Amino acid sequence: MTLKDTLKHQGLRQKLVATIKSKGITNEKVLDAIGKIPRHLFMDSSFLDHAYQDKAFPIAADQTISQPYTVAFQTELLQIKTGHKVLEIGTGSGYQTVVLCLLGAKVFSIERQHELYKKTSKFLPKLGYKPKKLIFGDGYIGLEEEAPFDSIIVTAGAPFVPKPLLGQLKIGGRLVIPVGDDIQIMTLFIRKGPKEFEQHEFGEFRFVPLLEDRN
Ligand code: SAH
Repeated sequence: MTLKDTLKHQGLRQKLVATIKSKGITNEKVLDAIGKIPRHLFMDSSFLDHAYQDKAFPIAADQTISQPYTVAFQTELLQIKTGHKVLEIGTGSGYQTVVLCLLGAKVFSIERQHELYKKTSKFLPKLGYKPKKLIFGDGYIGLEEEAPFDSIIVTAGAPFVPKPLLGQLKIGGRLVIPVGDDIQIMTLFIRKGPKEFEQHEFGEFRFVPLLEDRN
């Protein structure tokens, strides 16, 4: 695979940034990250022409690379500061992972599909991006050994909110998770105390499901 990023790609990317800005994304660091990341390299060659449309697309193992607007929307809700410890559930192509890295987060990311886990583990270092750790495992249980986290982002549709994820947040920490079966409601939990959470909802989104078994 060649890792070519041309002026044409860069131009298309700036248009994509303008598109998601017009849809309401204001965080400059998030917009900068979308403007920098060569999204076409995260996709199969048959979809190269689509890379800079604001749409989700298929990747390996029947999964999808999330829509850039959705990636930006979820990332904005996390309110990441440099040095924050962030857990991502659903590494997939690694595109969202890299957005988090560019915001200065220490990123831990869990993927349940072995094929994707392997592919993305090889690919990100080639592009020069270094998440703290990619993990092959089940996002429903989170990552207790690295907890607590400043924020946790779930990039697959969760039928319910996994309790361990709430428990692995710092006080003041934020969990952004799309909750629902066919259609999900983007939901933000802010941990206010050991057992106290504030909950906010941000409308409907569609994700591939957060799966419970591992096959
Ligand atoms: N963040 C990704 C989005 C990938 S789609 C990107 O930017 O490309 C959601 C991903 O969640 C898929 O790769 C899927 O395999 C993964 N997933 C589904 N259930 C999971 C689980 N229980 N634990 C970890 N990952 C899971």
